[in-house]
Amino acid sequence: MTDIAEIDRAGLKEVFFGKPLYTNWVNDAKGIADVISRLRLAETSFDHYCPHCDKETVWRIVPTGFARNIGNSVNAGQLGPNGQNRWISDGSFELFICCERVKYHAIRISFFVGTVPASAPIQWQLVKYGQFPSLIDLNAGSKEFSAVLNKNAKIEYRRALELTAYGYNIGAFVHYRRVLELLIDQAKDEAVEDNSGFDLASFQALTTTQQRVKALGDRIPQFIADRPEMYRILSEGVHEWSEAECGAVLPLMKLAIDTVLEQEHERKIKANRKREIALQLQQLDEKIGAGDVSSTLKTTKK
Ligand SMILES: [Zn+2]
Repeated sequence: MTDIAEIDRAGLKEVFFGKPLYTNWVNDAKGIADVISRLRLAETSFDHYCPHCDKETVWRIVPTGFARNIGNSVNAGQLGPNGQNRWISDGSFELFICCERVKYHAIRISFFVGTVPASAPIQWQLVKYGQFPSLIDLNAGSKEFSAVLNKNAKIEYRRALELTAYGYNIGAFVHYRRVLELLIDQAKDEAVEDNSGFDLASFQALTTTQQRVKALGDRIPQFIADRPEMYRILSEGVHEWSEAECGAVLPLMKLAIDTVLEQEHERKIKANRKREIALQLQQLDEKIGAGDVSSTLKTTKK
């Protein structure tokens, strides 16, 4: 159980896009009532990825009739210290959050409101128990990311999102670490394939991840080389941290991994462009060598 003050610290956006199902916030009647009012009436908008548009968008809360009724009862003071309101206690409400780009792109989130059993004095709880689209889809990011991961790495990345959605934070750490390991592996395979004198035997003799990253040079996203602590934190979390400790830094680890994937995407685009230009230069050179300069010039002038 988490005190409702956490919502103030983390912000409403984290409630919608970060907190897994069955997160429950606890407080007295007034504390819970205040948060319900804020959830219903927030004029705030949030920048976040929309899985339907497959790009960043602005999301806005749309108050629904049922949520409004709950709000009216809350405002009328019916969410009392004795927890006797039969309509609100053990009730639930749903929030709609709409994509500003296309109005029918909506997120539905369900909340349960009720008293904490056997609490004295009576405490109230707010539980996020349903969400569609799931956190996995809402945090899948752009499809560009999936373009840079091979099949196994994609499975690991998605598994990390799934486990995050259900609050299995240590498990999510394991899979994010695997994404990093597979990226390093992918870079090694590329290095072997491009026949540029990469020494596989001495690479395999290296014992630490940091040494291997260094040996791969610019075949690996620079962020992995610049921030070796990222791998260290993921490893330490897996072996030594609690679910709660891993959960507290999971949003940061996702940001770090996404930054790596973004860089990998840019790196691939640049590498492809270099390869394409090299190929065209080579073809041009061959035509010049064959004395076919005039047709070559015509082609390049276009
Ligand atoms: Zn959308």
